[in-house]
Amino acid sequence: MGNNHHAKGSLECQEVLARLYSFLDGELTDERRQKIRLHLDDCSPCLEAYEFETELRQMVANRLRDRVPEVLRVKISQLIEMERRI
Ligand SMILES: [Zn+2]
Repeated sequence: MGNNHHAKGSLECQEVLARLYSFLDGELTDERRQKIRLHLDDCSPCLEAYEFETELRQMVANRLRDRVPEVLRVKISQLIEMERRI
């Protein structure tokens, strides 16, 4: 079967990556979260992006608890976002 929805840069991947932050922030509906989870199970590039983001957040939360200014968090997010587009 020619199922190539895993193709790099597929619409579904773009959607998942665009919603990754909302997903991690718990801002999505259950239905959307479920959809993203299913995609991550099935798509290693997106899973890697997700794990990277998760680790980064944990690291920031653990090591710099309460000491990370919001601007820095935004900056880091922007850097990741830029890297992803290259
Ligand atoms: Zn994907």
